[in-house]
Amino acid sequence: MNVSIVGTGYVGLVSGVCLAEKGHKVICVDIDQAKVEKINKGIPPIYEPGLSELLRKNIYINLTATTDLRHAVMDTDLSLIAVETPFDGTEIDLKYVKKVAEQIGAVLKEKAGYHLVVVKSTVVPGTTENVVVPILEQASGKKAGEDFGVGMNPEFLKEGEAIFDFMNPDRIVLGGIDERSINILNDLYGAFGNVDKVRTNSRTAELIKYASNSLLALLISFSNEIGNLCAAVGVDVVEAMQGVHFDRRFTPMLPSGERIFPSMLTYLVAGCGFGGSCFPKDVNALIAYGKKMGVPMNLMEAVIAVNTRQPQKMIEMLKKHYPNLKGLKVAVLGMAFKPGTDDIRESPSITVTKILLDENAVVKVYDPIARHEAEKVFGSSVDFQDELRNTIVGVSAILIMTRWQHFHEIPNLLAGRQEQPLVIDGRRMLDKKSVLRYEGIGL
Ligand code: NAD
Repeated sequence: MNVSIVGTGYVGLVSGVCLAEKGHKVICVDIDQAKVEKINKGIPPIYEPGLSELLRKNIYINLTATTDLRHAVMDTDLSLIAVETPFDGTEIDLKYVKKVAEQIGAVLKEKAGYHLVVVKSTVVPGTTENVVVPILEQASGKKAGEDFGVGMNPEFLKEGEAIFDFMNPDRIVLGGIDERSINILNDLYGAFGNVDKVRTNSRTAELIKYASNSLLALLISFSNEIGNLCAAVGVDVVEAMQGVHFDRRFTPMLPSGERIFPSMLTYLVAGCGFGGSCFPKDVNALIAYGKKMGVPMNLMEAVIAVNTRQPQKMIEMLKKHYPNLKGLKVAVLGMAFKPGTDDIRESPSITVTKILLDENAVVKVYDPIARHEAEKVFGSSVDFQDELRNTIVGVSAILIMTRWQHFHEIPNLLAGRQEQPLVIDGRRMLDKKSVLRYEGIGL
């Protein structure tokens, strides 16, 4: 199939290279000229494991990038909209989606033949039908369901594992305004094997995405709230949650007695809070949408409230040992909101580093991948380091903010040192006895 993808960020580019790998002819469109140039040189503008290899393999064979939306839509049968849908502080901000719908509509006005427009961005229920369709119809002067089709195909990839997730989906949600749209969308995923597919209307497709993200965010805030209680009453949340995990409804037992540990359990672990470009904005957008629809989202409000307070716990633990942060040398380990990505959007690490700087601490920062993104936020106000080893020298405290695997080396790197820094484990990834001075979330 000839496919154009508008918006070449984490979702658009990953979808683009994966669909190209599956044999489709893909044109990626972005307004960011620099991104487009990089992609055409085979260099991904973002970090995702495996992305570079797949891009190099497919560029100029099954995939090209351009800023020319008109040509991209003209030369393809189907367009995916994968632009950002931020939360503007009050509600979901649809201006990027609206703009693209308008631009695609204007091309459809000139284009002969049927075209399918698919919303892949996360949008609140009703957006495809009530916002995108009218814009497309107005700009094209044509009728949705007759002259062109409209689909809604939410994306479930996880940053850090995006290529794997896209190539091996657990389900594909095929939403649309009519059967024809859904059938074409189904053909797009024809090469993805025998995966469970949900064929539905666009409103349900939109809601499935919010329900999925909200549930995962809820599990994290639940674990964090339990963790905060544990810390207050002298219980270690790691032990407590292990006891919870051994419920066979969470960790099913095979007849041999062996346990299955589903990856869902990684959301049932206490930490310094969730971040990223999805959970915070999606839960906030759902709360706003619920209110607008007359349905208060009390549980989701609590999820956000718990999460907003969580990074502060790192500072509270630090202040237990160092009440005055002025001039205190602190190492912040990890800027990415999770390992495997260079995405720092809404990362709790940003919040914590800002507090440290506000209180005049002297901050060293290390992240193996996300340094270039963090530099855009902090410039020269922190001391960026290239190596873990050097970052933890000469500091009074080490704050572990991201669960990067090689942070497990910290105990070895500290062993035998005369001055032992306080290690504050925001991800509960170290053995609490492995360093001399240890604090952790939920301990
Ligand atoms: P992103 O910010 O990484 O990328 C968006 C891209 O769209 C940018 O490159 C931007 O330049 C481009 N763009 C904006 N307006 C444009 C226009 N008019 N024409 C062409 N390009 C334009 O965003 P993302 O993280 O890929 O997310 C995209 C959507 O997918 C969002 O709705 C998000 O909620 C959803 N989503 C994201 C993830 C994730 O892990 N990042 C996962 C699932 C769903």
